[in-house]
Amino acid sequence: MELIAKLEQQLRALDERSLTRRRRTVETPCGPRVTVDGRELLAFCSNDYLGLAGHPRMVAALREGAARYGVGSGGSHLISGHSRAHAALEERLAEFVGAHLESARALYFCTGYMANLAVLTGLSGSDKSAEIFSESLNHASLIDGARLSRVAVQVYPHADLDALAALLAGSGSATKIVVTDSVFSMDGNLAPLPALLALCERHGAWLVVDDAHGFGTLGAHGRGALEHFGLRSPHLVYMGTLSKAAGAAGAFVAAHRSVIETLIQRARPYIYTTAAAPALAHALLTSLELIGGEEGARRRAHLQQLLAQMDAGLRLRRWTRLPSRTPIQPLLIGANDETMRAGAALYEQGLWVGAIRPPTVPPGTARLRVTLSAGHSSADVARLVDALNALERT
Ligand SMILES: *Cc1c(COP(=O)(O)O)cnc(C)c1O
Repeated sequence: MELIAKLEQQLRALDERSLTRRRRTVETPCGPRVTVDGRELLAFCSNDYLGLAGHPRMVAALREGAARYGVGSGGSHLISGHSRAHAALEERLAEFVGAHLESARALYFCTGYMANLAVLTGLSGSDKSAEIFSESLNHASLIDGARLSRVAVQVYPHADLDALAALLAGSGSATKIVVTDSVFSMDGNLAPLPALLALCERHGAWLVVDDAHGFGTLGAHGRGALEHFGLRSPHLVYMGTLSKAAGAAGAFVAAHRSVIETLIQRARPYIYTTAAAPALAHALLTSLELIGGEEGARRRAHLQQLLAQMDAGLRLRRWTRLPSRTPIQPLLIGANDETMRAGAALYEQGLWVGAIRPPTVPPGTARLRVTLSAGHSSADVARLVDALNALERT
């Protein structure tokens, strides 16, 4: 009993600091309108930026994939679980982003979380003197990957290239790995990737880019942050998730073929897990077609129009809208309790917006995290903007 009492005491302590997290059960497909507890809500909290998660062509492709490949993969990739669907997807992904790398291959993972663990443990490899240089706002999966790699980790302040340059210059390691989110998931701003890459090239370092929020949304063809900035290097290691704009699940790493072969041979988060359902990989072929084609371009243009509508409509005095040009639109409030109250008030009105607290963001920077999707109409955004303007004055 004492063991349980202790946990219960810790849970109460969380609650007293307004830090308890609750799940809401969604009855309908992911989209702008979802049903929760029998109520229809207008949702501004998913990462389904292009509105593909419930797209009829994606649903049809998943059905077709299940008919062709069944449900489970039945094994890990290195034993028996690697199907034709996975292989086809990896080929398409390598083509999709390969122009920004050299001799590129791609490797499909079940989740972005695992891909990040694999990249950081795999790249440091057997070099115990490897060093990881990690941007301070990096996603939790990168932080965990750095920890799991059991090499020295230096955290550099957000977007501070001078600080990073000093750390790199002071490092005697033969394997330097700089790692950053491309689009910061709770702020929506972009990392200065061109300058980061130049710095890495100067210091003989890898640059690992986590493009979870850029893949599909950035670049003329939706190929992500590398396309957006026009970067190319054999020392780039690119991670894109397929769970956000791509509307499905999983992630991939694309890099020089020797990096990918190293991950296949050594990365435990790749090796010791069952391959994702082949049908999902099959559906992702359709997702890539949509992202890279005219429909994707149309959806990205529509997102830009919605952003412009927020620019024109929001009239905030106390809250701060962070300067983001991506579908991630955070409104900084500060205190946990006020943020939770604002989230609850919106919810009462049928508007579902994520309220983000520490430890996901630094203490004192709790915020509403509005995410836009190409599935939203301009009437949807007008309703949100009006509600936010009114709420901030109360
Ligand atoms: C969502 C996210 C991940 C994890 O991807 P999943 O596919 O959800 O596991 C990794 N990095 C960043 C920056 C993310 O936002």
